[in-house]
Amino acid sequence: MARVFNFSAGPSMLPETVLRKAQEEMLDYQGTGMSVMEMSHRSSAFSKIIEEAELLLRDIMGIPDNFKVLFLQGGASTQFAMIPLNLFQKHKKADFIITGSWSKKAAAEARRYGDVNIVASSEDRNFSYIPKLSGNPFSRDADYVHITTNNTIYGTRFPGLPQTGDVPLVADMSSNILSEVYDVSRFGLIYAGAQKNIGPAGLTIVILHKDLIGNALDMTPTMLNYKTHADKDSLFNTPPCYCVYTAKLTFTWIKEQGGVAAIEKRNREKAGMLYDVLDNSKLYAGTAEQPSRSLMNVTFTLPTEELTAKCLQEAGKEGLVTLKGHRSVGGMRASIYNAMPVEGVQKLAQFLKRFESENS
Ligand SMILES: *Cc1c(COP(=O)(O)O)cnc(C)c1O
Repeated sequence: MARVFNFSAGPSMLPETVLRKAQEEMLDYQGTGMSVMEMSHRSSAFSKIIEEAELLLRDIMGIPDNFKVLFLQGGASTQFAMIPLNLFQKHKKADFIITGSWSKKAAAEARRYGDVNIVASSEDRNFSYIPKLSGNPFSRDADYVHITTNNTIYGTRFPGLPQTGDVPLVADMSSNILSEVYDVSRFGLIYAGAQKNIGPAGLTIVILHKDLIGNALDMTPTMLNYKTHADKDSLFNTPPCYCVYTAKLTFTWIKEQGGVAAIEKRNREKAGMLYDVLDNSKLYAGTAEQPSRSLMNVTFTLPTEELTAKCLQEAGKEGLVTLKGHRSVGGMRASIYNAMPVEGVQKLAQFLKRFESENS
């Protein structure tokens, strides 16, 4: 069996130890004689799994007790609607910082239920940077401020968090949750689809302050009301059981690696190796501006489509796959989430240097 280094933006690589553990427990989960896939979500074995998953996540992220953790379905995209439906509690108004197509989509969905104020946007230069804010640009009467901490497509990341005062900060962390240390108490709500840094697609994690639960708009469907899920500890209906189990294995792995701080250190080293190649190259051009560079998605272009195609093809032959850039940026993108081993990034860096020397 030959595993490749898969630089996919999502779904993406999982730690090999997680996959092996899942394989080992596939047919008989801890003496139950069944797979977690075949198990009632009301069983004592699964209750333990979901409880442990939450405890581990609270532990590795340092989630305060006044925050609720929800294991939901529907992807980050469902949160684009669920957040305004639940958080438009006073003025039905939200401030958005637009840093890519995901924040644009989130803003468009919120606009269906109230007012959306665009505080800043980096669309003028194809989202190649995170806009700097001056003074206090936020609306005093906003119900929340929305940001996308890491912009998967454009390879940018907020270098710091905006100061929003008493207004809850809401963050789409789909592509960088658990990749670096965040102070959860700075946020009102954090959400993330699992398929980039946590587990298989199908699980969405929402971490929210308890004060934000219980005042949804009247029209909110039962399944889109945070209170529905909070009251039942994510067991109102069948949760994505197997994904929760896999997430639990990933959280365990993160803890074994030394926690999020240790993972962040490694992520900085990994990203540094690739940015080093780009900064010393005449062939590759990084698309994100320096202070806004992502630790998770490294985006760059080559001078021609032909060279890009050749580079992708030769990389593939070396087991370095899924490096094609998103169509809205072009070029190449190396997604180097937590599970991408240092070795994979080293191999890519060496390959890129060699490809440059052979093609210039
Ligand atoms: C992938 C991604 C999404 C979309 O997630 P789905 O789970 O497919 O809805 C949203 N936001 C960001 C930042 C992403 O990276």
